[in-house]
Amino acid sequence: MKIIAVGRNYAEHIKELNNEQPDDPVIFTKPETAVLRDNEPFYYPDFSQDIHHEVEILVRISKVGKNIDEKFAHKYYDEIGIGIDFTARDIQSKLKAKGLPWDLAKGFNGSAPISKFVPKSEFPDLQNLNFRLDVNGETRQQGNTELMLFKIDYLIAFVSRYITLQQGDILFTGTPKGVGPVKVGDTLTAYLEDRKMLDFAVK
Ligand code: MG
Repeated sequence: MKIIAVGRNYAEHIKELNNEQPDDPVIFTKPETAVLRDNEPFYYPDFSQDIHHEVEILVRISKVGKNIDEKFAHKYYDEIGIGIDFTARDIQSKLKAKGLPWDLAKGFNGSAPISKFVPKSEFPDLQNLNFRLDVNGETRQQGNTELMLFKIDYLIAFVSRYITLQQGDILFTGTPKGVGPVKVGDTLTAYLEDRKMLDFAVK
């Protein structure tokens, strides 16, 4: 499996990092070795002093597809989840300043904790989903998928023009505002509507 992720997909988050709103989705990938499952702890890496949380809605691809038409994109995923796009902001800022790729800032070991997936049919409207991240019981990020600049079906169509999607691939759909640093000892809890989906420690 592979992880495909979207940057700068919520206007308020773009503002908080002083980035420009993109004309096309900003796409990057994470390797499979980034994944943490079953609420495994996240071990703070020694190469960064500024790891940020980015809570995001996940979409799991259910069948192979390329050059997918946006109007058929919904046939290529049947489950959703929630995940954290951990970002070494200090490393990313240095790379961005030089116009270099973000891989080391985004794809390091453990940088993609993911929840269990639930059938999308359990939700009446995927583009009107509330989700949030609490750190030590205090809400840090709160979003609704209606605020995505590029919606799920558009993202799937767009990515599939370049990269073939395969069953089990996971799309990270971007983070709402409120990103910030985590520290050793924190507990991160993420909710999709009222369901607790993630609950893990930073060690
Ligand atoms: Mg992100």
